[in-house]
Order: sequence, then structure tokens, then C-alpha cells
Amino acid sequence: MGSQAARLAADACPEHRGGPTVKQLVLSTLRAVHVPFQMRELPERVAIYFHDLEPTQFGKFSEAVGHFLDHGYRTVTAGEYTDPGASGKLLFVSFDDNFQSWHRALRPLDRLGATATFYVNTGVMRDEASASDIAAYFGRIRYQGASPTLSRQELKEIHDAGHAIGCHTHTHRRLPQIDRGEWANEIDRSKAYLEDFFGDEVVDFSYPYGMRRHFSESLKAYCSNIGFRTIATAISGLQLRSFRDPLTLHRTGWKFENSLERNLEDLRINGSLYAALTGRSLTG
Ligand SMILES: [Zn+2]
Repeated sequence: MGSQAARLAADACPEHRGGPTVKQLVLSTLRAVHVPFQMRELPERVAIYFHDLEPTQFGKFSEAVGHFLDHGYRTVTAGEYTDPGASGKLLFVSFDDNFQSWHRALRPLDRLGATATFYVNTGVMRDEASASDIAAYFGRIRYQGASPTLSRQELKEIHDAGHAIGCHTHTHRRLPQIDRGEWANEIDRSKAYLEDFFGDEVVDFSYPYGMRRHFSESLKAYCSNIGFRTIATAISGLQLRSFRDPLTLHRTGWKFENSLERNLEDLRINGSLYAALTGRSLTG
């Protein structure tokens, strides 16, 4: 993991990245240990997440979510997902950042009868932010695709279609690397923006970049104090009963470049072990 490229890759929003060699080695070892012997069945609670959704990926997206629905899962909010009393097979589908392509995903979601949570960066709405601010934002998340960011109307229509809206901060900074006043502002502005916009309390948060090193105990305490009831990470991991914590919701990034089967294997692997060993995301 010595090269600058590998380090940069690992710092960006996880599933946009290719994996370094050492990581692939650890992954293949974990697969070898877990897949054949320990995790034949999918867990009862599965959390998968996405960023952009290109039109060419709609089919694979529907295949992924449809697979779970066909196997008796129902889609739930982060609150239901982390509720110890909830029963049955639960699927938590979420999206991070801010992409107009989410709006085009409303139809496939509707056809599936599925609901999702959209964690939004509020400082880059297409009809409010400057082109240079949006370009800087896409630089921060290392996005090179074609989707613009959402307009306010599109965000409203996502909400009105019955999906949950959560905070992903205002402009997607690395929170532990800025001082407390700045990170509090990044979080507060985003929460207040969405609450003003929708007239509802916003209780779900996902922090930028999603790995352990991108958050801290003081950030967690702050988020809890201002009213967030769930905090989603980009740390892959099964929602094993012993690890269930609404303020550390593990999610696995879905990789469209891999087959459905390969993605399902990723979900069977204990990503907490991988993250503990390497400090990095299982999903690349
Ligand atoms: Zn993000």
C-alpha cells in the first residue's frame, strides 16, 4: 500500500476506486476462509449502497434489488434497519453524494416497489451552486461521470415519491481534517437545509468518504446530540447482532462491474474483520 496512487485511491469515495494488490490479496484470503465454510446464507439484514446510477446500470440495479425482493427481503429506512425489534429480512438501499441520475432511478425503484435513502450533499444543488463549486465538489469525490447534480425540484420529487432523505454534509469535506467549527457548520447547514426544504426532521446521516478514519468519537457524539438517530458508514460488514449500532451502520458498496454472484459473496464476508486488519473498505 505504499504508492501515492493507492493511497489516493483508498481515500476517495470507496466504490469509485480500483483495488491495490495487497488489498486484493487480503480479500482473496478472506473469501477463501469465509465463503465456503461460514457464510453460505445471506444475512437477514443487508445494507447496500450506490453513488451515481448511469442509465446503462439500471438493469443491473434492478437485478440487484430484485434479487433480494425475490428472496423475501423488504426495503426499509435506516431507522427500521437498525431497530432491534424489526423482524424478517431487511434490505437497506442507499445512495451517497448528489447526482441528477438519482431522479432517473425513480422509475426502476417504483417498478420494483422498493424505497431507498438518499444521503445528499446540500451545497451543490444544480440551480443554486456555482459551476465552479460543483466542479470542485466533483473533484473532491473524484467523480468523472456525466451526471450533473440534482435540482431542488428533482430532490423534492425524490422525497415526494416516498424515499427517505438523509444528510451527507453540505460540501463533502474530510471532517476530521477541518476544525470543529467548520465540521459542525458542514453538518448543521446540511441538516437545516433539508429540514427547511421538507419541513420534516432529518434523522439519518452518512459521513463523507465513509471509512473509520473519516469520522471520530467527537463527531459521532455531536451528530447524536443534534438529533441524528442513524449514522451510515461505507465500512462493509454484516449486521451481526453483536455489532448492531444505529450510529455505526455498516454498508457494502455494490459494484456494477462485478456479477450479481460476486456481489453477493462480498455480502457474506465479514467486512469488519477486513476493516480491522487493513483500515480500508472491503468493497474497494
Ligand atoms: Zn460521499
